[in-house]
Amino acid sequence: MSEEDVKDSVLMEKIVSLCKRRGFIFPSSEIYGGINGFWDYGPYGSRMKRAVENLWWHEMVETRDNVEGLDSTIICHPRAWKASGHLDQFSDLMTDCRDCKARFRVDQMEDPTRCSNCGSKNLTEPREFNLMMKTFVGPVFDEEHTAWLRAESCQPIFMDFQSVRVAARQKLPFGIAQIGKAFRNEINPRNFTFRSREFTQMEMEFFCDGEQGMEWFEYWKEQRIRYYREKLGFKDDFFRIYVHEKLAHYAKAAIDIEVKFPFGWGELEGVHHRGTWDLTRHSEFSGEDLQYMDHDNGRRIMPTVIETSVGLDRTILALLSSAYDEDTAATAKEGMDEDVRVVLHLPPLVAPVQVAVLPLSKKLSENAEKLYADLNRHFRAEYDVTGSIGKRYRRQDEIGTPFCVTFDFDSAGDNAVTVRNRDTMEQERVSIDQLRNYLEEAIGI
Ligand code: ATP
Repeated sequence: MSEEDVKDSVLMEKIVSLCKRRGFIFPSSEIYGGINGFWDYGPYGSRMKRAVENLWWHEMVETRDNVEGLDSTIICHPRAWKASGHLDQFSDLMTDCRDCKARFRVDQMEDPTRCSNCGSKNLTEPREFNLMMKTFVGPVFDEEHTAWLRAESCQPIFMDFQSVRVAARQKLPFGIAQIGKAFRNEINPRNFTFRSREFTQMEMEFFCDGEQGMEWFEYWKEQRIRYYREKLGFKDDFFRIYVHEKLAHYAKAAIDIEVKFPFGWGELEGVHHRGTWDLTRHSEFSGEDLQYMDHDNGRRIMPTVIETSVGLDRTILALLSSAYDEDTAATAKEGMDEDVRVVLHLPPLVAPVQVAVLPLSKKLSENAEKLYADLNRHFRAEYDVTGSIGKRYRRQDEIGTPFCVTFDFDSAGDNAVTVRNRDTMEQERVSIDQLRNYLEEAIGI
């Protein structure tokens, strides 16, 4: 391991440990020793997850007249997965090490002739391993009652295309978006939540005339890049675009938005031009005609699909990775003994707590609580009265709270509070009447 690799793995461990300690993310069913590839989001994690989800939904659905929402079931007709190709093709080649028993995806091994764990050459022949999670619907556990947990949230969008179009009276071009759980029996879940077996996807399928397909592909690519820059605050050196050269036979173009996780670059989102593949397949397998009749020009076409597909869990991990910081210079300023402050520079829009109200003394609780109750109606707020003010700032820094509002002995008299900025640690006196406006502007609401 190079020095850089050691630093990165230490950073990953620090993020994992902070997530556990402060209630962002921890192993599912941990009292039983956990279950590999499954993670629970605690109080701060679930707040943050909800915030990211809402932000995406707002950006992709609520602010657009040409994108509709959908909330479909996780289990759908098993034939859907035949049509999508998942039952026949959604598999990875895997190999086992006979010596140390580790299991690998062949395409992820640096050297497929040697075990990446112990170096042994004693590997099994690569075998196909389907990633679909199986279940049974009904009382009998046999072939006929077999169903599958969806491996991606987009297939129901294709199946419901006509129902949504008709109900929403949409014309081409328009999109359908969905946020929901997906399940994959990943051979080797790893890198914290990056590769999980149960995860949430946020997907949008945009249906258009094939002639405009590439234009829409470019449009959505731009939109998504802008979202990461402007809404999630990703810096240019934190993300990059990977252009696929090897495309599926039906696809016209595909890019991935990759992010610099502590363990290296990894896919966060895919923007894909999928041609007419998905609707054609579902038409074929279901016998339903999924073509679109354009009454303006009398043409009947199979819509082309542009897809944007992002993992919610990977977004959270990306945000935490880019936000984590250990600041050594700043601590003396606030009278703290320790020389490192752990701080998450999270974008205020998605921080689990956007504003913390900290009365300087318990004697000020009554008024401070009133202020907190008021702020809590508009922001994700928290109230903390225990410990020195420096300690309380640190607690908030560690969970990424962008603003701390200190209610002090002058506050009742001058009707003002001190707002402390997480990133600059600067303090500013703000009148309580102006506080909501001040925070809304600073948070970007
Ligand atoms: P990978 O190559 O990393 O396995 P993929 O190309 O199979 O990913 P897609 O099928 O394009 O991924 O899924 C879209 C998005 O869903 C991904 O960009 C990612 O953010 C998320 N995703 C996919 N698999 C997982 C997983 N096992 N755990 C968490 N998120 C995932």
